[in-house]
Amino acid sequence: MADPTTEASRLEALCKSLGNLWSEDDVIDVTQDISTEKLTECRLTLFGKLYTRPNVNFQAFLSTMKRAWRIENFSCTSLELGFFSFTFKLEAEKQKVLDAGPWSFSSNLLVLQQCDPDIPDICYDFSHCPFWVQLFGLPFGRVTTEVVREIASKTGEVLEVKLEAKGNSNYKVGKTRIKLNLATPLKTGVVVNLGNKKLWIEFKYERLPHYCYSYGRIGHYTTACKEIPYKTTRLEEDLLGNFSNWLQAEVRELSPYGKIFYGRQTQLIDDVEMVPESPMEAQSHES
Ligand SMILES: [Zn+2]
Repeated sequence: MADPTTEASRLEALCKSLGNLWSEDDVIDVTQDISTEKLTECRLTLFGKLYTRPNVNFQAFLSTMKRAWRIENFSCTSLELGFFSFTFKLEAEKQKVLDAGPWSFSSNLLVLQQCDPDIPDICYDFSHCPFWVQLFGLPFGRVTTEVVREIASKTGEVLEVKLEAKGNSNYKVGKTRIKLNLATPLKTGVVVNLGNKKLWIEFKYERLPHYCYSYGRIGHYTTACKEIPYKTTRLEEDLLGNFSNWLQAEVRELSPYGKIFYGRQTQLIDDVEMVPESPMEAQSHES
């Protein structure tokens, strides 16, 4: 939107399509500055879009968000189905909502964007959402901000890195806040090359709303998957899909892929066909 070349080319395309429906007289200069009050209001406003199933009961949605955010005093307007504006009283309250996300309403992801005084409602991009991702299986000696950042930077835009202590112990979990592209499948993990050995590090997502066990996208169940029709999945026969609940941070166990890599394959996997072809398979017992 701010890119002048894009703006210029869009303007050119617009003029061309309008043909003689427009003249130079139709360009109007707005000379008024935005008032301080209006700027403050914009700064305290977030736009939010429900990623799927926009048709919700507004009152139920509002009271649920008030309870979840523990903020009574904010105004919420339904701009269109599943698209809202939230204006807070305090910057700290707005920031708290942004930092503690992602939020969901009945397992339906609410993607939030900061209001910009000069961007029209229709131009906000809700295709990405920040999520906290824990690196599961990272060895004790490698749990540092730098290593977590290095691994995370290959998987998305890194917004923040944190080493979270487990209780009162020295043991820390490396996690990172990544801006996820909601159109692509959730990443299960990465192979980390430590020079003398390779490890499989799994991603565990915090506050994950419902997602598809076939293709791994947020926002729909396997039965409604457009990428992999349910009829063609093994899930219909009650067998494992490509994804399962082990993507959630609360589930502290290896995925079937991790079990294969670390030689802990269980009888749950009755058929290796479901595992994607991986050059690492052969090395799983070496390291
Ligand atoms: Zn799907």
